[in-house]
This record gives sequence, structure tokens and C-alpha cells, in this order.
Amino acid sequence: LSTMQRDRAWVEIDLQALAHNVQQLRQLLAPSTELMAVVKADAYGHGAVMVAQTVLQHGATWLGVATIPEGIELRKAGIEAPILLLGATNTLEQVRAVARWQLQPTLCTPKQALIFAETLAASGDRRTLPVHLKLDTGMSRLGMPWQQATEFVQLVTRLPQLQIASIYSHFATADSPDPSIMRQQHDRFQQAIAQLHVLGMTPPRLHISNSAATLVDSRLHYDLVRVGLATYGLYPAPHLKGTIDLKPVMQVKARVTQVKVIQPGTGVSYGYQYIADREILVAVVGIGYADGIPRNLSNRINVLLRGQRVPQIGAITMDQLMLDVSQIPDLQPGEIVTLLGQDGNDAIAADDWAEILGTISWEILCGFKHRLPRVAV
Ligand code: PLP
Repeated sequence: LSTMQRDRAWVEIDLQALAHNVQQLRQLLAPSTELMAVVKADAYGHGAVMVAQTVLQHGATWLGVATIPEGIELRKAGIEAPILLLGATNTLEQVRAVARWQLQPTLCTPKQALIFAETLAASGDRRTLPVHLKLDTGMSRLGMPWQQATEFVQLVTRLPQLQIASIYSHFATADSPDPSIMRQQHDRFQQAIAQLHVLGMTPPRLHISNSAATLVDSRLHYDLVRVGLATYGLYPAPHLKGTIDLKPVMQVKARVTQVKVIQPGTGVSYGYQYIADREILVAVVGIGYADGIPRNLSNRINVLLRGQRVPQIGAITMDQLMLDVSQIPDLQPGEIVTLLGQDGNDAIAADDWAEILGTISWEILCGFKHRLPRVAV
């Protein structure tokens, strides 16, 4: 199968770019601040195991995942670094799996903390489980309301099966040019921590920053930053471009499978959304929406071929799409099309697609399906 990795369509993962991004992030951080690479959703579509191995070699010391199976996949690959489960875990089965695979859960409610403590006590496992207490400071997603932080921390401190490894929160608007909401959330976080200090409680680790907050303000770094998008070489917002030097890690490529001339008036693909108004040369390419190319991009993108931009035409189909390649009359089947990435002096970015679709680059990266082999280059 490995010889077929590049025969139709594939995702290239530039591990040197990944290492470079981690080094750039590391340089931004104080030596005592740890870097957690967020590798949930198969490392934002890049391939979790290979990404995790690379980032750990270049200065990340923590990994963040959303689900237990994501954590188990990393453990099964022999990865021993601490893994924080950013998502919720509530059931007995989940608690057992967390302990068995030495994942570190996020706790958001007293009830959840009690379930963990009771399940661990009943299991006879005498090890204490490191847990991370999440405060909701304004995202209104997971987390204990920040006003109740003290009671929550006190309760967990009394449970001998659990050991608080960190207290953390998450920003809702760190990528906005207007910092006011982020500041409000940070104030709340600081207030909650200050109350703990008054009671003589010193959390071993505090963290609140995603990529955007990490790039925006070093006062938000605390003991650890949780960086996803920037690891993969993208900037979380236009105004943050150039804050550090990031290189996109992912490229999406596919091969031309057939080339043909069509006459004026000929329709292309389902629904005839495109009808040739002159004789054109059409290339068929072996990649489609079942590979994660959003069908809503039909007739709205260019791709790169021999370093030139060529327009995609007609509806994108499940496994194939068409191009108008009239500008390359000697094009041959087998040539490589770059859908995302660099070819010659030109590049197409996930942000370009995100803008057309009215979404964010995170969703574009996560959208590529497993049918596309991830090929390290
Ligand atoms: N921390 C938490 C809790 C997250 O959910 C995420 C991702 O959404 C991150 C950190 C990383 O965010 P980003 O990709 O913007 O760096």
C-alpha cells in the first residue's frame, strides 16, 4: 500500500516545518513555561502520532487531546509524555480508561471529581491521578463557573485519589483585535487564583492561552501554553500574521487522471453548473468531497499546476473534480495538482478556502478525510 500513497490524492506533512514552528513558539516562551501541542482531531488532520513524536522532539513537553481514544492512540504508539484530555469524561468506563492509559482528565464539576475519586478508590489502584481543574471564565463551554473556584478546589484537594496538576481556563475571543473580552476573562482567572492564594492554596500549574493568546501577550503564558493552530503553521487571525515566523505544515495534492478538449456549449459535472463558452481543455483530478474538499468550493477556487493558478470548474464530485487547463496545452495525466500548499512561487492557504466558505482555517484542516494518506515529507 505504501507504494500507492501518492498515486491518486494525498496530504503531505512537512515535518521540518512542524519542527520549525515548535522552535519558533519555544523562543517566544520563558524557559520555565511549558509548551503543550494540541493534537486533538488527529492533530488537526495532520496525523496525531507522527505530529506528536515530532513536536516532542523539538520542545513540546505536553500533548492535548479531546477524547480518550485519541489519547489511547498516542499511548499505543509508545508516547509517554503527559497527555491532557481537554474534553469531558463522566462515565465509569471513561474513568477506568483514563487511569489505565495514564491520561490526565479535565474536571469541571464536583460531581465529576467524586465519580473519579470513588471509581479509583473502588478499583484498588493506590496511585493518585493527576487532574486538571477547568474554570469557565466566559467561554460558557466546559468548566466550573469561576466564582466557585475556591469551593471546587477545596473539594478536590480533600479527595486523596486525585492530585491537582493544574488549574486552567480557555479564551473565547483571543483572536479578536479587540482585547476587551479576553482581558475580562483574564481578570476573572486572576481573581479566582488570588482567592486561592489567600487560603494558602498554590496550584502547581496555571494555563489559559491558546495560539492567539500565546502570540498576543507573554503575560498570558503562565506555566504552560496550549497551542494548536500555530503548531501547524497558521496564524489564528490576520492581525497576528508575522508575530513569529510560521510555516504551513500541510499540503493537499492529487494527480490529473484524464485530459480532454470540450466544445463550446458543453456542460461540466453534475447539474451543469459550468458550461464552456469556448473550446477548453479539461483536466479530471482524482480528489473530491469524500476526501474532504468541500463541495461548496465548486467553481470558486483555483488550484496550482506547474506553478500556475488554474480554475476549478463544475460541481466537485465525491471522488473527482475538473479544472480548466486551457493554459497548459501539453498537460499529461499523472501530473500533480496542488490544492492547498506551495507550487513554484505561488501558494494557496487554508485561510483562502476558509474565507470563501465563511469559516475558519481550523475547520478546513480538520476536514480532510482518512482516505487521503498522510505522507511525511
Ligand atoms: N485549549 C483548548 C481547551 C482548546 O479547545 C483548543 C482548541 O480548540 C486549544 C487550546 C488550542 O487552540 P488553538 O488551535 O487556537 O491554538
